[in-house]
Amino acid sequence: MTAIIAGRYLVSSGGFAWLSARRHPHIHVGRGEQIRREIAWSLASAVVYGLPAGIVAWGWQAQGWTLIYDDLHAYPSWYGPVSVLAFLIAHDAWFYWTHRWMHRPTPFRIAHAVHHASRPPTAWAAMSFHPIEALTGAVVIPALVFMIPIHWGALLVVLGIMTLMGVTNHMGWEMFPRRLIDGPIGRWLITASHHQQHHRQYRCNYGLYFRFWDRLCRTDHGLGRFDHDRHAGAGTLSSLGDGHAER
Ligand SMILES: [Zn+2]
Ligand SMILES: [Zn+2]
Repeated sequence: MTAIIAGRYLVSSGGFAWLSARRHPHIHVGRGEQIRREIAWSLASAVVYGLPAGIVAWGWQAQGWTLIYDDLHAYPSWYGPVSVLAFLIAHDAWFYWTHRWMHRPTPFRIAHAVHHASRPPTAWAAMSFHPIEALTGAVVIPALVFMIPIHWGALLVVLGIMTLMGVTNHMGWEMFPRRLIDGPIGRWLITASHHQQHHRQYRCNYGLYFRFWDRLCRTDHGLGRFDHDRHAGAGTLSSLGDGHAER
């Protein structure tokens, strides 16, 4: 399982890193050392992620554990998308609160500082976590498959969204059209413009997929705009106050 997770990371982060370098040629310049560090921590995280995932996958296949099902007709057709949404909402809530906790001084110093050592992060930082933080992330999906029934195909969709957003939220540019980001969808969904603001300001924008918890707890500091959205160049995020702040 660790090998699958490491392979998935190398393909997804590598693919988007390549795309990033093509779209914004300066984005990785002078950051070889940071990228090497991001890859090393991410591969270590793959080991941590692999353990609970491997145990649960074995239990599912060999012992009939979990609520994962393979009969498409076991639940009504509307249940498929609902189960995906339920997983994302539950994961998002877990991430928001553990992430906020990790910004307390001691857990930050011991664990979460590893993730924030990337300033700004690259696509390679998707799993760049200290093993303690990786463990808090590694248990979520393996725990949820015991609580929420889900078809294995829907579970693959969840894992696909998790991987895609984990990588693209760190890659240093916004892949979604500005119209979508600045519209009603962008008010509730988290993309790179939102998460990079977290990497810039630290004490805000803690969410993973949705802005719900950040808005409710008043930790949402709005979206930033990448400098190269306006002109080619550095992969930094411009400051607030450009009309894309708190809304
Ligand atoms: Zn991050
Ligand atoms: Zn953080």
